[in-house]
Amino acid sequence: MQHAPSNPGLLAAGIALTLLAVAGHTWLPLQELDLTHPGVASNAFLIGEQQAADGATPPVRWVNAERHHWHCDYRSIEGRQGCGLTFMLGDTEQGRGIDLRSYSTLRMDLVLNGGAPLVRVAMRNFDPRFSKLEDGNSARMQSVQLRPRDVARPVQLNLSELTVPEWWVQQFDLPREYNQPSRENVTAFTVDIPGDISGQPQDLELRSLVLQGEWISRDQLYLAILSAWLLGASALATRRWRELRQRARQQQREIDALTTRTRQLRLEQEGLRRLATIDELTGVLNRRGLEAAIDDLEAQAEPLGLVLLDIDHFKAVNDHWGHAAGDEVLRRVAAIVAASLRSADVIGRWGGEEFVIVCRCRHIDEAAALAEKLRVAIVAADVDAKGRFGVTASFGVTLVPPGTPTRRAFRRADAALYRAKAGGRDRVELSIAGQDAATTR
Ligand code: GH3
Ligand code: MG
Ligand code: MG
Repeated sequence: MQHAPSNPGLLAAGIALTLLAVAGHTWLPLQELDLTHPGVASNAFLIGEQQAADGATPPVRWVNAERHHWHCDYRSIEGRQGCGLTFMLGDTEQGRGIDLRSYSTLRMDLVLNGGAPLVRVAMRNFDPRFSKLEDGNSARMQSVQLRPRDVARPVQLNLSELTVPEWWVQQFDLPREYNQPSRENVTAFTVDIPGDISGQPQDLELRSLVLQGEWISRDQLYLAILSAWLLGASALATRRWRELRQRARQQQREIDALTTRTRQLRLEQEGLRRLATIDELTGVLNRRGLEAAIDDLEAQAEPLGLVLLDIDHFKAVNDHWGHAAGDEVLRRVAAIVAASLRSADVIGRWGGEEFVIVCRCRHIDEAAALAEKLRVAIVAADVDAKGRFGVTASFGVTLVPPGTPTRRAFRRADAALYRAKAGGRDRVELSIAGQDAATTR
């Protein structure tokens, strides 16, 4: 939660901005399009202006084109009438109008003189699905009719008041969905007087015709706010996720380092333990290791064979051939014995040139046979690699019945060994618990 303190600040700022945007929307200025403004319409013309017979005064004429002030007089003209001002929008020749969907209201300031019962505001939108360039009337008509009373003062119309008139629907006979009003691609805007006006001249001045709309609708604003919140939330979530991932990686690195260190320590410990229980010179168990191994074997409550091995006249080897030669003899004898044992048997150096072998032997004969095998192996081997002297060993053998202390058995084996020495060496002597029988090889 390192970054938690900064989040409440961000949250408060976000809420404040949201409230400001929602409340401020009402006071935002509107976008406006004044159709009477020069340059907005691509063209502005009077309906009926060109209907004049040669040399005659046209029934419709400008009083002041700049001020959009015109006059219609059909008292001396028969036939089709028309009295209005049309603003063409966009590129009408290509059927490309302008998009008025962002506008919602129309403000009109019209001065109307002449007693016409109605005035009409209309727009046309070119719909390529059915509108034809050569027929201006095929652009969808949408209009509203107002009484002079309604326009006595500047009037504000909602653009949704402009609907597709029945005569247009009947004339074009299109599928129902084509008769829906649309502010897309609007090509013309007209203010005119519908119906028969042959009796009275009309005078109209369009002071302003202004479309108004919000720069951004409330729906769009809410959508924008929602998007901003979602964006902010996902940015925060992404940042948080990155932090967590980074922290998880860091923790994994630490765990890995600890695991490696633990493994090293275990290896070191293993090494130390080995050093503590292994005889450095010969590589077999030392006295401490041997005692531990005997404890383990004793716990299994099975009879064990105990064999003491003492190298004969070892002092003489040291004396004649040097201490290093003596060491080599110790190493070789240990290796010969170790190679002759079964995996369940144990050998250790008890001290000096004395070794102890503990075997899983159920009977003393088994242990004696093992001792004999070892004795023969030592005699047969070239313990001194240079062949200068032979090496023999004497053995004292006994059995350790389950539940009896090995210490006492040691004493017996020692006595047997003593007898082997006294009996001329290079031999195996047995000592059975309870009787001091002596057996030679
Ligand atoms: P016996 O046949 O009666 O066993 O005579 P022995 O000479 O083998 O026995 P003794 O106990 O008289 O001599 C043992 C010698 O072993 C004395 C000691 O110097 C030598 N010794 C003890 N440990 C080592 C060792 O690690 N290396 C060497 N080279 N000699 C050792
Ligand atoms: Mg000795
Ligand atoms: Mg000896």
